[in-house]
Amino acid sequence: MRRSLRAALVLALMATTGLAAPPVPEPDRLLEHIKFLSSDALRGRGNGSEGLERAADYIAAQFKAAGLRPGFRNGDWFQPFELAAGLSVGEGNGLVIRRPSKSTPLTLGESYFPLSATPSDSPVVLDGVPVVFAGYGISAPSVDYDDYAGLDVNGKAVLVFSHEPQEARRDSRLNGARPLQETTLYSKAAAARSRGARALIVVSDPSHQADEANYRTFTIDADPEDHGIPVLRVRRDEVAPLVLELGLDQLAAAIDRDLTARSRALAGTTIDYRQRLAVRRRTVRNVVGVLPGADAAKDDEAIVIGGHYDHVGLGGRFSNSPDRTGEIHNGADDNASGIAALIEIARTSAADRARFPRTLVFVAFAGEERGLLGSAYYAEHPVVPLADTVAMLNLDMVGRARGGVEVGGLGAASSLGADLEAAARDAGLAARPGGPGAGRSDDSNFIDRRIPALHFFTGFHEDYHRPTDDWPRIDAAGTARVATLALELAARIAARDDRPTFTAR
Ligand SMILES: [Zn+2]
Ligand SMILES: [Zn+2]
Repeated sequence: MRRSLRAALVLALMATTGLAAPPVPEPDRLLEHIKFLSSDALRGRGNGSEGLERAADYIAAQFKAAGLRPGFRNGDWFQPFELAAGLSVGEGNGLVIRRPSKSTPLTLGESYFPLSATPSDSPVVLDGVPVVFAGYGISAPSVDYDDYAGLDVNGKAVLVFSHEPQEARRDSRLNGARPLQETTLYSKAAAARSRGARALIVVSDPSHQADEANYRTFTIDADPEDHGIPVLRVRRDEVAPLVLELGLDQLAAAIDRDLTARSRALAGTTIDYRQRLAVRRRTVRNVVGVLPGADAAKDDEAIVIGGHYDHVGLGGRFSNSPDRTGEIHNGADDNASGIAALIEIARTSAADRARFPRTLVFVAFAGEERGLLGSAYYAEHPVVPLADTVAMLNLDMVGRARGGVEVGGLGAASSLGADLEAAARDAGLAARPGGPGAGRSDDSNFIDRRIPALHFFTGFHEDYHRPTDDWPRIDAAGTARVATLALELAARIAARDDRPTFTAR
């Protein structure tokens, strides 16, 4: 562990003057913030949830205690904006599979659920739509496999298996044991939609003994993708008897054996479908606090220090364990860690304000997990005009440093390189170029507007977007070092004579 020159000077100064040292980011304080934000009480801080609002209130209270000024008039810390937080399930949803001899009504959340729905407040009504069986629903000419060859699905509902044939065979011409791009749900829906299909019905392929989908999750968290047509996951044991003369398992086995499509219309089989899913609009809030610059000649220019405080709540489609939807995804590393760092940077910089000639704007973003929405809204409605925003520092997942941190964005902010190196020395932390990649976090909305922005990130791990991203796995001392690095870098940017330049990509 290296002690910084600055720390040594401060200690020497204390010894001679008896002054208290300025505070530094402290692991214990960081961990307290992380524990609260990632506690079960906040239920994963999903957008549109009460837990998210409690987190916002907590962050505002911490900003206030740190000595920041509220970002808005009348002492207001909050910047509200609206987003679509999934769908609400209305009355009258249902799917009926009709055969000449029998009709079978299926219940949403028990026997089927939408994998894709187009957000709309008007219901979907399909009546008497003929059903066509299309194997695995894959059209992949490059590997000479096409379930749609010679098949008319225009105006029909297409029944397909999940996954792909020969999926465990390393010698398969369908990309060996790795899935084809055409096997993704996105591609299967596009294949059906582009041929005029009105719906896609997906059943578990027989290579999986049990139908592994959790049909109930939809009633917990209705948040399907939008692939342009309804895509319905239907329980296999409900469908199998309806197409019995085909023999679902035998068909799959035949396709698996010779990769010859066995697609065909199911004579006399139709579906009726009713979908009543309304877009769930919710107001969420960015939290904004300001430390005015200490130098009147520079204080109209600002550095934004940000991180998101929302997470994925109880899972759903943003979870990496969608089968565990319903469990709290606590998000200790993602991103209680970054918010804890933000709070500690606020506290320590406000206590040592003379080091910051330019203004610091602290922003805790909502809506990140749903597409970087909070930072997009802030960029449209900044507290300090973007023309006067000289840099942005983003902290997203900084809880597992273990000696180093990845820094993204240097390509467009190379003029910050020397400041970063000096700050990393002070923090005693290895700063490596890297990061999760463009468009992955809130710095993107600043880079897109040509503002030099750096992203601090301590790496993906097996708990990422899973219920196991919990506080005991946090490296609090490492988080304190990342916070110190960001603090020291902010101090250098705040005191520079020139503004950092944006280097075009
Ligand atoms: Zn994140
Ligand atoms: Zn995330």
